[in-house]
Amino acid sequence: MVVFNVVVLGAGGVGKSALTARYVRNEFRENYDPTIEENYTRSVVVDGVQSQLEILDTAGAEQFTSINEVYIQAALGFVLAFSLTQEASLREIDSLRQQIYRIKGDDTIPIVVVGTKADLANEREVQRATISSLANKWNHPFYETSAKRDWHVNEVFDEITRQMRARYPQG
Ligand code: GDP
Ligand code: MG
Repeated sequence: MVVFNVVVLGAGGVGKSALTARYVRNEFRENYDPTIEENYTRSVVVDGVQSQLEILDTAGAEQFTSINEVYIQAALGFVLAFSLTQEASLREIDSLRQQIYRIKGDDTIPIVVVGTKADLANEREVQRATISSLANKWNHPFYETSAKRDWHVNEVFDEITRQMRARYPQG
């Protein structure tokens, strides 16, 4: 089975661990240790084809928008997460995206943009139109998710898997 390395990046507290834990374990907890960086494995069937995902839930350094070049180089796909309740976290995605392009030497690599915490409608700071126009400009698909309610979490990983398979058929 083909194996794909995926890295989940974004500012601290946006919900990277919650998104990953929902996807891999189908669970949601109110609190994850913000300092823990962990690798998860999950198999996924997309469009009838099974693949293995190695998902790195990052922590720490990316809070300062400077990322670890080693795991960026090793990864084939990126989930860039920001919180719909925190406008500043969207700007961090823009910076991460540019760092990834620079490190990979390419701006057509598999990336999915994810706005998290869609269930917190009253706290929302980023409108769909804003994300839509940015994501179109960047040429990456985007999703609005809730790890708490399990909204659109699987779609994120299905989409990144599709992109990686198209781009790197051998993994
Ligand atoms: P990380 O630092 O990016 O890994 O963020 P965490 O996954 O640890 O989440 C930070 C906080 O946001 C925690 O208290 C989570 O419970 C909360 N959180 C994460 N995702 C969601 C969500 O979809 N909805 C709500 N309401 N809270 C969330
Ligand atoms: Mg975390």
